Amino acid sequence: MTVSDNSDGTDTDDEESESEPELRAAIAPRDYDLLTAMQKSIGNASSTCECCGKVVDGHDLDEFIIGEFTRVDFSDENHVLLCRDCHDRPDWKERVKASRREQQINSRLDKVIHWVSRPPAKTLFVRRATAGLALLLTATAFTTTMTALTSGLGPLWDYATSLNYRQIAYIVGGALVAGYWLHLNEREQHDNRGTTVRQYDFTDSPWSVLGVTTIGFTGASAIAYSLPTSRLWILALCAYLSCSYFAFTRLETAVRADRCHPRVNWIPRYDRELFGLRMSVLVGLASLVLGTGLVAIVPAVAITAYLVARKWHDLGENWELLYYGGDSRGDD
Ligand SMILES: [Zn+2]
Repeated sequence: MTVSDNSDGTDTDDEESESEPELRAAIAPRDYDLLTAMQKSIGNASSTCECCGKVVDGHDLDEFIIGEFTRVDFSDENHVLLCRDCHDRPDWKERVKASRREQQINSRLDKVIHWVSRPPAKTLFVRRATAGLALLLTATAFTTTMTALTSGLGPLWDYATSLNYRQIAYIVGGALVAGYWLHLNEREQHDNRGTTVRQYDFTDSPWSVLGVTTIGFTGASAIAYSLPTSRLWILALCAYLSCSYFAFTRLETAVRADRCHPRVNWIPRYDRELFGLRMSVLVGLASLVLGTGLVAIVPAVAITAYLVARKWHDLGENWELLYYGGDSRGDD
């Protein structure tokens, strides 16, 4: 039993792809275990070759190979159970992709289910929230119409104006926050997506961006608090919005990069660190818009606490990073 390392299907030579520069930064996440990944792909494929359907039950370890679509992805989906014959075919990737597509998406309903359930999808939470809200709206519209029709009441407008929209906003907002926590919790347990080069290249320096963002949050909060009626408030809001954008995108990169880095003694959690940090940004944004300027400082405090805490961990057992930190990127 072996894991094939060919990166683009044009070669089966293990050594050749080492020279490709884009692959150097691929570092497995700490919780990635090759044996577990192999066992999972054997289980997922029910011990049949994903290309030709031949049963490879594992009695003979030389009978099968775990192939990989690409070397920079450590997700379960990236591993493919193949018999020896199929692994030698030049087109096994296309065949496996076609067969997976056939198995998964046969109807429109399958497509919808796939759209809201595919674990490595980057916009999974947005997809689910959209689907949930659409479902809620449809159900509400349906019951409202039915109630109005059956009770013989007048126009729907009367009913619509009688609704307590503030209460509805609180309930939907609360449901979204709770849903987001559950989503991050699920990521924490199942997501191995933390390794593709584009997203997790440490030369991105997500931590430096967060440091600058913190200064931006502080400045914008100070302006908004001290000059609440001035036109500068608009400027502060714009600065705050830009900082929120960078914080939202870079927070996840920073958390994931910390999880991947083999030499850093710091393993953050999505459902704890990421949830707390992102919620602090939302709270700050809401407070600024509602006019309570001082609370807008919350994300700056939270992000600073995160940066200090992770640095504290780094320096605990890996104090040599102080001297070699810059050189340790991307190797081993
Ligand atoms: Zn086969």
